[in-house]
Amino acid sequence: MEYIDLHTHSTCSDGSLTPTELVKEARLAGLAAIALTDHDTMAGIAEALSAGQKTGLEVISGVEASASHQGRPVHILGYGLDQSDRDLTLLLAELQRIRRDRNDRIIEKLAGQGLIINREELAATASGLIGRPHIARILVRQRAVFSIDHAFRKYLGKTGRTYVESARFPAEDVIRTITGAGGLAVLAHPATFAASPEQIATLVRDLKARGLGGIEAYYPGHPTNLCKQLLDLAGKLDLAVTGGSDFHGSVKPGIHIGGAPVMPPVPYRFLENLRERLAGRH
Ligand code: AMP
Ligand code: ZN
Ligand code: FE
Ligand code: FE
Repeated sequence: MEYIDLHTHSTCSDGSLTPTELVKEARLAGLAAIALTDHDTMAGIAEALSAGQKTGLEVISGVEASASHQGRPVHILGYGLDQSDRDLTLLLAELQRIRRDRNDRIIEKLAGQGLIINREELAATASGLIGRPHIARILVRQRAVFSIDHAFRKYLGKTGRTYVESARFPAEDVIRTITGAGGLAVLAHPATFAASPEQIATLVRDLKARGLGGIEAYYPGHPTNLCKQLLDLAGKLDLAVTGGSDFHGSVKPGIHIGGAPVMPPVPYRFLENLRERLAGRH
């Protein structure tokens, strides 16, 4: 059986491996295909596709866009997108601007705590878009915290001292843009939005009515029964099923590409189904 990982991050957002290194890591792990789904940018796709061709690994273009639904954050994965689409380009540019503003506000709040983040140093930590994990890395370097995880708990996370809520686009706008760019919009890690299976089902039905094309059923930490419930829900609503590890390299030390041992392997047939759905669009 062949396996895939449809949710990974590179240095173009907040992962620690370049797209080329990521493809090599996937080959070493014995995967047949991966999707690169950096946060709010597709800057790594060309490199990942070319590395995939060179090493014989199938690479699918993707993105993980930040959005909100009913005042709460959601992440929408987009697959098979036309990168030259104008609305998609505008959306990604706007999401990147929102991030820069938010980073500025986080840096101001940290200064209020006596922690000075040097902007040149921050820029040098990232080769693409800057997110909270980059700020966390500097806090570790400054010995202000023990680890990236500690930085999130003490300062950057939702209950941290310097948390800043991000401005967000409604999920339905993001879904519409992804679909308009020829892509399939998939709800990432549904359990991070809603706690109970009933709430998740309501969210998924809501978003399906707004053009959602799939749900991420396989995800690290999804209990087996939740994964099964999500598979059933996808079947009932005729949605695609995807799965991925949310691999970030050393930024998330416990997570390996492919997801083992904290996620069951994702069978290749889900990618075939995704491709059929995408082909049906054109
Ligand atoms: P941002 O995109 O700036 O809102 O930062 C969110 C990202 O930070 C997530 O996508 C994760 O990649 C990462 N993240 C969140 N919590 C943690 C944590 N405790 N340890 C490491 N990375 C984290
Ligand atoms: Zn991330
Ligand atoms: Fe996410
Ligand atoms: Fe992710």
